[in-house]
Parts: sequence; C-alpha cells; structure tokens
Amino acid sequence: MAAKDKDLNDLFLDTLKDIYYAEKQILKALPKMARAASSDQLRAAFEKHQAETEGQVERLEQVFEMLDKPARGKTCDAIVGILDEGKEIMDEYKGTDALDAGMLAAAQAVEHYEISRYGTLKTWATELGMNDAARLLDQTLKEEEKTDQTLTQLAKAAVNLAAA
Ligand code: FE
Ligand code: FE
Ligand code: FE
Repeated sequence: MAAKDKDLNDLFLDTLKDIYYAEKQILKALPKMARAASSDQLRAAFEKHQAETEGQVERLEQVFEMLDKPARGKTCDAIVGILDEGKEIMDEYKGTDALDAGMLAAAQAVEHYEISRYGTLKTWATELGMNDAARLLDQTLKEEEKTDQTLTQLAKAAVNLAAA
C-alpha cells in the first residue's frame, strides 16, 4: 500500500498489533518478575497484574474481532527494550537490597508505555466511531493506571522503610 493511502484506520490496526505483541511479552515476563521479587507485596502485585494482563489480551482479541481482522502481533521494539532493561536489573541486582527498587522502576516503565498506547488507542477508537472498542480499551487503561499507582505506593513504602 502506498504511503499516501494510509489513514487512521491503518494506524489504529498497526498500534493494536504493537500493544498485542507487547502484552504477550509482558505475560511472559511477569511470572519471572514475581519469582525474583524479595517483598511479598511486590510479588503479590505482579501476580495480580499477571491475571489482569490475561484479560487485557482477551480484550484486544475482541477489538481485532470488531475490526474483522486476525489477532496478530507486530514486534514492538520499545517493550523489548524496556523488558531487556528489567532483566538486566534482575541479573545485576540479584540478592541485593536494591533489587525490588530496581524492579519497581522497571515495572513502572512498562506500565507507562502501556498507558501511552492505550490512551492513544482509546482516543483513535472514539474518533473512528468505534465506541465499543473505546470502552474496552478504557477498561484496560484504567487497570494499567491503577497498577502504576500501586507500584508508586510500594516504591514509596520501600524508600520510607529504608530511610527509617
Ligand atoms: Fe497490560
Ligand atoms: Fe511499540
Ligand atoms: Fe500493565
């Protein structure tokens, strides 16, 4: 397809594939992060988000269905890079007191990427008149924002504990 023929519908589908790929990678990373976490609270947060992420993948599959397109991912270099950084932290800080702080920061980078994507997708779905899709994307956006807030609270509690 010539570049001049591409429109917001193409952009929406491409971005949907991007976040679908990202969610699948996150689904693989979360159990490893949960296993590596020192604090029970952080492990519980990762496990809870693992379950939510499974539902988020299903919502994306529903949106693909609304578009009459097969659910297919497209490599997201951003999430690959963010997850690689997280893995590096887990390797390099294994067994240290700073491990959880590093993992919290890595996990928040993931949530921030997702919040950016879902915010955009929700706006585009609305612009394209896909209100049911916009509603599904908004449900996921709210879960990502809530997760980010939980991680912020855990990070603050950990910093306060270390400072005490
Ligand atoms: Fe997600
Ligand atoms: Fe991406
Ligand atoms: Fe998330």
